This record gives sequence, structure tokens and C-alpha cells, in this order.
Amino acid sequence: MKRAAARERAFLDDASQARPAWLSERLSRVVRRATGGGAWTHRFLRGLMWKYRRLAGTVLFLNVVAAMFEGGTMGVLGLAVESLTGDTGALPVQHLGVVGVWLDEFRTSLEPRDAFVALVGIAVASQVTKATMEFASKTVAARLSTTIEADLRRRTFRQLVRMRFEQVSRYKVGDLTAYVSQVTPAAGLIPTTNEMVYQCLTLSAYASILLWTSWQMTVAAGVVLGGLVLATRGVMFRIRVTAKRFVKTSTSMNENAVELLGGIRHVHTYGREEFATSRIDADIDAGMYARRRGLVLAAVIPCAMQVVAAVGIGVMLYVAGLVLEGDGALSPGGLLFFVLILYRLLPRVTTVNNKVAVLHSKWAYVERVAAILRRDDKQYLKDGSTPFAGLGDAIEFRDVTLRYVDGAKPAVERLSFRVPRGTMTALVGPSGAGKSSIVNLLLRLYDVNGGAILVDGTPLNDVRVKDWRAQIGLVDQDTFVFHASIRENIRFGKLDATDAEIEHAAGIAAAHEFIAALPDGYDTVVGERGQRLSGGQRQRIAIARAIVREPSILILDEATSALDTHSERAIQTAIERIRKDFTVVAIAHRLSTIRDADQILVLDKGRIVERGTHSELVAKAGLYARLWTAQAGDVPGA
Ligand code: ADP
Repeated sequence: MKRAAARERAFLDDASQARPAWLSERLSRVVRRATGGGAWTHRFLRGLMWKYRRLAGTVLFLNVVAAMFEGGTMGVLGLAVESLTGDTGALPVQHLGVVGVWLDEFRTSLEPRDAFVALVGIAVASQVTKATMEFASKTVAARLSTTIEADLRRRTFRQLVRMRFEQVSRYKVGDLTAYVSQVTPAAGLIPTTNEMVYQCLTLSAYASILLWTSWQMTVAAGVVLGGLVLATRGVMFRIRVTAKRFVKTSTSMNENAVELLGGIRHVHTYGREEFATSRIDADIDAGMYARRRGLVLAAVIPCAMQVVAAVGIGVMLYVAGLVLEGDGALSPGGLLFFVLILYRLLPRVTTVNNKVAVLHSKWAYVERVAAILRRDDKQYLKDGSTPFAGLGDAIEFRDVTLRYVDGAKPAVERLSFRVPRGTMTALVGPSGAGKSSIVNLLLRLYDVNGGAILVDGTPLNDVRVKDWRAQIGLVDQDTFVFHASIRENIRFGKLDATDAEIEHAAGIAAAHEFIAALPDGYDTVVGERGQRLSGGQRQRIAIARAIVREPSILILDEATSALDTHSERAIQTAIERIRKDFTVVAIAHRLSTIRDADQILVLDKGRIVERGTHSELVAKAGLYARLWTAQAGDVPGA
């Protein structure tokens, strides 16, 4: 674990500081020139290359060897053809160094037919070696790309989970899920690049053979092909722009789909099926057009290549037949050999060009993944260092102000109150008064903009977050139930809770009875695709989850609003019973549930307007008394 964390840190450091590594600098400059795009994305890719330099280096090495054998095969075949036709000496073997001289001696020492057979044998062996190297390179490349994909996925998800709640909550859920799924096309950059590098190397091998055969004709071929590559640059740019548009529309579609399907109940009950589909329709159409344009643009390239191949070969033959005379002229065998190699070379140029187009279309995904993994523009929770094992004395809010948006009106302003240990503090007031904001601050989902929250005298920001949160049991309005057994759902509160602890907590939360009555008891699977639970039952599971933590601070946010009178009473009794062990902060709209609280803070527009016990506040005949009178009619037992 520690090593993994250290590796991650090392990598992130790599990514955020420009590394003076010569090769990665060079490569990234090549990529930047080929693709354009933000400096951060290049820094990110550089970091990635550096992290996986060993695997990437192995792939590159194997590619170089494979390309050399491919070129070698062709060279030997050329010599073999020469031996057969008898016009030896046309191919400049002396340019091949020791190997060339040896091959030449070898073939002249044999009968032409035997030399032909032997050279073909060498060519076959060379091709087998090349195929083996290619396979090895593909295997290592597969390992590299899948490792990187998993690594990026893990890091993306970790980033999303670790980013400050305050920041991550501003993203749409669909946008966040898109980040995780878009890692796949982004990581597709690796095999594409590998394929491209390999093809480039093979291309160079062929080009060397061509040069070796006839430099004049090679120059002519180069001019034609180079012209084409330059001509397709504009197309490449358009492919990139189109791909970016496609990523944007598909992300927007994901956002809308997640949002609308999440609220499918409301879509149905409000009869908004048309509205929902029309919102998605626009994105689907935009995506379709972007995709179509991308595909058409991509089709331009191979077709243009075919035209060039035809024109190119024509030019070659013209040059060979009419222009070259004397020294530069090729024998018929040599000419055939040249055209053969050129034919093998041309599809590679097409492939490389296609791969560049694919790289351009993947670039938009890479930019998004790089942007989310970027750390310098993300906020993380600042951890404190003071250990916290439980509340000793009190939590104190001292002049606390919270502003969600800079410059906006504060959600709570200059709040001061004390929550002594073992007491119950209730927060009441009209909606928007700032009750949930106080809970958000207590949970450290947000930090104060002014004043301080003191825990036994220590500022909350100095307390170790893990310790602090371990001491908090939260039951909030959104009683989330995972798709798992009830036992696991309760255990989420305390991962090492024993079955006995779980059942004890369920007992306190008045949930044991209904759980035991289910066919599979605590093993009943609930949540998305499991047993449906009533609102009251979900709430009681949430309470059991909070209680099993044995927290010293229990935060109840409208905890009893969804309960029927029977379970509400049961829970109230339970909370009364264990109140001495907890410090309770409760938000309630139904005032009967907090009637016995030690102190009630009445909030309005972010300020405390009244405070006291129930009877004091009723006697005061202020806001609380008005709320109480208004509710008295529908509150049982009031
Ligand atoms: P209550 O819980 O009493 O209904 P809140 O604490 O939720 O009140 O809200 C207090 C004020 O802060 C309201 O004006 C609300 O609009 C604003 N507010 C709450 N949450 C956010 C948020 N995440 N971003 C911006 N404003 C918020």
C-alpha cells in the first residue's frame, strides 16, 4: 500500500514538474506538433511515458528489431532475385557493410540456383524472426496499454472520490461517470501510437531499401508522398475539431441521461417523457453529425492515398523508363524489385496517416482525462494533525460565517453557540435558514469563511479528519441504501462490526423487528435491484448504520420525518435511552421530535434569532412559538 502510494506521489511529481529527460521531451514535442493541445496534457503524457518507460522502451526496442528484420528480408530477396537473373552488381552490396560483403561472397561462392535457394531460405528465416519480434512487441504493448488504462481508471476514480466535496459536488453526476468511461478511448492512444511507431520504423526500413536500390527514384517517390502527407494536414485538424465536438456532445448526453433516468419517477409522474427524450435527442443529433463528419473526413485519407499510389507508381515508371539513363538506369529485375518494395511501402504510409487521424480523434479524450487528473487546480481537504478519540467537553461555534459562493450573501453569518457533550441541540427554522449549512460545516464538507469551530478547544480544521469523521454518525434526509444485504448496509457504518453489533444497532434503531420478519432476515438484498423498502424502513437502516459506529456525535437531519408514528416513537425512546452516550445535533421540521432537546436554536436567514428550551421558547411567543402553534394541530401527542 505504502509503496503504491509512494509510486503514485512520485509519478504525480513527475507529471507536475517538467522533467529534463531528453527522450520524453523530444517525443512530447513531436506529439505536440502533431496534435496541438494544452501544455498540461503534454506534461501529463510525459509523466505517463516516464512512469512506464521500461515497458515502452521494450516495445520500442522490439519494434526497431522487427523493422530491421523486415528491411533485411527485402534486401536479401533483392539479392536473391539478382542471383537468379544473373545481373549481379546492380544492387550496391558494399553499402550494407560486413553483412552485405558476407552475403555477396556467400552467393558468389555458390551456383546461381543454389545461391537463390539459400538466399530465399535466409529471407524466410529473417521474416520468421521479424514476425516473432512483432508478436513480442504486440504482447508487451498490450500489457503496457492495459496497465495504463487500469492505472488511469483507478486514478481518475480516486481523484473523483478524493476531491473536495465542495468542488466535486459542482460537477454533474453524468459528467463524472463520463470521466471514468472515457479512460478507455484515451488509453487507446497507446496501441495506436505503438502501431504508428512500428509502421514508421518499417517505412524507414523500406525507404532505406528503396534508397539503396535507386536514390533518384526514391526522391521522386518521396516528393509525391510528402506532398500528400502535407495536403492531408488540414483534414487532420478538422478531424480533431470534430472529435472534440463529439466528446462534448456525448458527455452532455451522458449528463442528461443520468439526470433524467435518476429522476425517472418524476419524468413519469409529471408526464414529461417527451421533454426527457427531446433533451437527449438534441445531443444525439449533434453527436451523430459530429461522428458522421469525422468518419467522412477519415475516409478521405485512405482514398486519397490510393490516388497517390496510382500516380506515384506512374511517376516512378516514367522516371525509370525515360529519365534515368546510363548510371542511374535499373535492370528490369531491379525495376521490378523497386516497384515491389514501393507496393509494400505504400499501404504503410496509408496506415501511418490513418493512425495520425485516429490519434487526433483520441486527443479530445486524452485532454479530458488529463484535465481531471490535474491536481494543481483541484481542491483537497486539508487534514489536521490533532488526534481525536471522542468529544470530551464541547463543540463550540464562534462567530462562524459560511459563504458557498464568493461574494454571495452568507448562508450562515456570525453564528455562536456551544454544544456541550452528552446534550442534544436542535436546529429549527424555515427552509433556507442555514440548518443544513451547520451540518455541512460539522461534517467538514465545507470550511468556515469566518470565525472558527472549536472541538474541545481545538479548531476543527486542526483535527485529523479521519478521526473526526469516525466519531460522527450521520442520518440524513437522503437515506442511501446500497445494492447489498441489510447486514452489509448497516456494516457500512463500521466495516469491522460483528453480527451481534449489527443486530444490536438495528435493535436500537427499531429496525430489528422488520428485518427479522423478512424471508432472508439480515441477508435480504436491498437497494437498486433488491427488496423494496418503505421510506421508514430505509430510515431505520440508516439510523442503525449511524449507531453501529458508536459515534460520540450523532447528527440527525430530519431523521424521523419519514417514519410512521409507531417507529417514530420507538426511535425517540431509543435516542432518549442512549442520549447520554451521544452528543446529538438534530435538524427537525416536526418540532415534537426535538421537544426534549437541551437547547433549541431557532435560525432565520443564516442567523440565530432565538435560543432556549422548548418551554422557554414557547413562553417567548416568538418565531418558535408561532411554528409550534402552527404544527400543534398535526403533531401527535402535542
Ligand atoms: P436549511 O437547511 O435551513 O434549509 P441551508 O443551510 O440548506 O438551509 O441553506 C442556507 C442558504 O445557503 C440558502 O440560501 C441556500 O440557498 C444556500 N445554499 C445551500 N447549499 C448551497 C450550495 N451548495 N451552494 C450554494 N448555496 C447553497
